[in-house]
Amino acid sequence: MASASIGASGNALAIPMTNGHSPLSERIQIINDQKQFTSELTSQIERWDLRDAGFNYNIVAVFGSQSTGKSTLLNRLFGTTFDVMDETKRQQTTKGIWMCRGKDMNIMVMDVEGTDGRERGEDQDFERKSALFSLASSEVLIINLWEHQVGLYQGANMGLLKTVFEVNLGLFGGKKAQDGTNGRTLLLFVIRDHIGTTPLANLQATLTADLQRIWDSLSKPDELKDRQLTDYFDLGFTALPHKILATEQFELETRNLRGRFVDKTKSDYLFKPTYHKRIPADGVAFYMENIWEQVQSNKDLDLPTQQELLAQFRCDEISAVALTEFNEQAKPQKRPIEAGKVVEGLGAMMRSWRTVALERYDRDASRYHQGVYKRKRADLIVSLDATLSPLFLGQLKNLHKACLGAFKKDVLEGMKGEEYNFADVVSKAKVKCDNRFTTGAKESVVDDSEEGKTEWNWEEELELLREEVQSVADQCRKDETKKMVNNIERNFKKQISEPIELALNKGSPNMWDEVLKAFRQTLDKAESTYLIKATSFNCTEEENTYSLAALRRRAWQALRNKIDEQTADSVFVGRLRAHFEERFRYDEQGVPRVWKPEDDIDGVYRKAKEQTLELIPLYSKIAPLDSSVAYVLPPDAISSSDSGSSLEEAFDFESSLVVFSETKALDLAAKFRKDADLAYVEAKRSTVSSVAQ
Ligand code: GDP
Ligand code: MG
Repeated sequence: MASASIGASGNALAIPMTNGHSPLSERIQIINDQKQFTSELTSQIERWDLRDAGFNYNIVAVFGSQSTGKSTLLNRLFGTTFDVMDETKRQQTTKGIWMCRGKDMNIMVMDVEGTDGRERGEDQDFERKSALFSLASSEVLIINLWEHQVGLYQGANMGLLKTVFEVNLGLFGGKKAQDGTNGRTLLLFVIRDHIGTTPLANLQATLTADLQRIWDSLSKPDELKDRQLTDYFDLGFTALPHKILATEQFELETRNLRGRFVDKTKSDYLFKPTYHKRIPADGVAFYMENIWEQVQSNKDLDLPTQQELLAQFRCDEISAVALTEFNEQAKPQKRPIEAGKVVEGLGAMMRSWRTVALERYDRDASRYHQGVYKRKRADLIVSLDATLSPLFLGQLKNLHKACLGAFKKDVLEGMKGEEYNFADVVSKAKVKCDNRFTTGAKESVVDDSEEGKTEWNWEEELELLREEVQSVADQCRKDETKKMVNNIERNFKKQISEPIELALNKGSPNMWDEVLKAFRQTLDKAESTYLIKATSFNCTEEENTYSLAALRRRAWQALRNKIDEQTADSVFVGRLRAHFEERFRYDEQGVPRVWKPEDDIDGVYRKAKEQTLELIPLYSKIAPLDSSVAYVLPPDAISSSDSGSSLEEAFDFESSLVVFSETKALDLAAKFRKDADLAYVEAKRSTVSSVAQ
């Protein structure tokens, strides 16, 4: 297999480089020799198509002296494209960390270059930092070394391992990560150019003993002094034959080793779940950058805190994306709501936007630190509801208006035609209105999971609506009652007319008794008609008192009008004349008189006149013979006033009993006398003419 040697060996370059085929095979220098972290890792992970991998990915890093075939090994194992030293040029490889995506595998591979500073007498700063960085993120750390380096306790690798152990104690020493993983890491020793004379088991024993010695020599903090190497690390050992001297063997063994990285079903599968650092793929870039920053500024690296920071950052980002999408969906509904429309199915829409937003958030954010995830989720809900709540309230307001309008229409509709029961019409319309509002309001509720949450309360608005409906109903009832009272009044007038005319025509001494009895009877009937209807209207006590008072007052007025009509000057004088003539011109048998000279014209005339004049005081005042028949208008009827005019307020019942005044009486008498005198003279003349004949 040809090792991919492409592009410049790019030390300062932090841009992804491609072999010209697929972004999947691009590599990136995540930390350059200036110890700067790339700003491109996020987009590179996206280009590698790993962004949405969640936890379904692995990270492996390689450590070891320079030119020990690390890059060659990685390229063989993972199909990566790391630079391999060109034999013909033998150029010095620089410091830095490169990353590739494994070919056809969700593996991020880190090639840590230049970790052998010790050998070349350089400062061990980079070695320490890259160890920290790798341990914080990788599941498997490959320690690459020549066979002849094994047992060289003072050698470079051992120094490196001491550093690894030390920084690991700092990273994972006491604390457990929030998800219970303890940051266990596999150290996989790959022994290169294994000749075979010393079996792997022996090399392994030597290395293990060396590691143990290094571990024991570490100065550990008191609370960790009993911790064992195996509390933090699993150790793995494998050997590879010489690449050039035993090419076939080499290829075979690397293929085997590759299988252990790739095939999950293998019993010696290397990426055990407990090694995973539980950083969601979409957070790896941010996490690594932060780790590097901490490392760079020589701050204590506290992984739980880093995970929390990462969670805060990512949860905010994820939340913002969800919120933007959500607002996009909600926006078009704002206008119709503001314009007063009841948006059909608004609740279903709002619930769906909200659910989608939360699902989006949950999908990506739930992989992060649970405390942070939950806190940011609550924040997101607050933001979502801050958009939904005005829509909900607007919808309620519009619903309220629509329901009230429909109620008015229903009542008017129900009152069309002759036969309707007002109370029925109103109560049916009320039920309909209530149902309509309640159904609409319930539909618009977004989240009723929390009992009594004020955000989605619609009961208050319903109360307001009910109050307004009631006041509309009251107004309708008042109008309706007025109409009814008018009707009753009209009927009353019709009914009272004939008995009054009859009684007043007769002019008998108990004339007023008859009038008042008829009045009383008709009024009683009118009142009970009112009360029957008013009950079905659900009129209040107060309204009844008021209406009855008005009815009595108007009945009395009607009576008085009828009396006035019947006692108008001309009518009354006519009636007197008729009364007189009946007695003067006709005899007791009702036969017209033909006056003879011997007839006592004067006597008959005087008697008829006197009898007629007696009628005047009888008519002048409403005064029944039987005082128990007398009608007295109740005080509330006297003060009642439909029109509110001050004229009516000055109504004086006592004076309304007077039909005409004494002056008027004298005037009427005088008028009558003229008529009577005329009749007398006529009678006298008729006798004279009959004698003359
Ligand atoms: P790195 O610096 O550790 O990444 O090493 P390279 O992968 O760049 O390889 C350095 C040199 O070692 C190159 O010339 C390779 O051809 C050579 N090389 C790679 N693998 C082996 C091996 O297994 N044995 C030997 N002897 N040489 C190797
Ligand atoms: Mg290399």
